[in-house]
Amino acid sequence: MADPWKKELSCAVTCSECGQALSEGDERILSMYDHRVICMGCKQREEQESDYKDTAMGMIAGCMKETGKPYGDPEGYCFHHFAPYRCKA
Ligand SMILES: [Zn+2]
Repeated sequence: MADPWKKELSCAVTCSECGQALSEGDERILSMYDHRVICMGCKQREEQESDYKDTAMGMIAGCMKETGKPYGDPEGYCFHHFAPYRCKA
């Protein structure tokens, strides 16, 4: 499977949650809820949600099924719901 999200998401210039500008060197991460690119501040807020753990479990199961990769694969889409990354232009 190709990774179209990489191009589209990894270099997003704004947080899709709060609209904060993201530059190439800023850390960003994927939302556990809707897979959009969000800033680390929004990620922290997301982690406070009461259903975060359940959502994470469901997301990971679905994501591994879709990509056929373990979520710990650092090149994988699923991984970046947990690990922040920077845009590599
Ligand atoms: Zn944000």
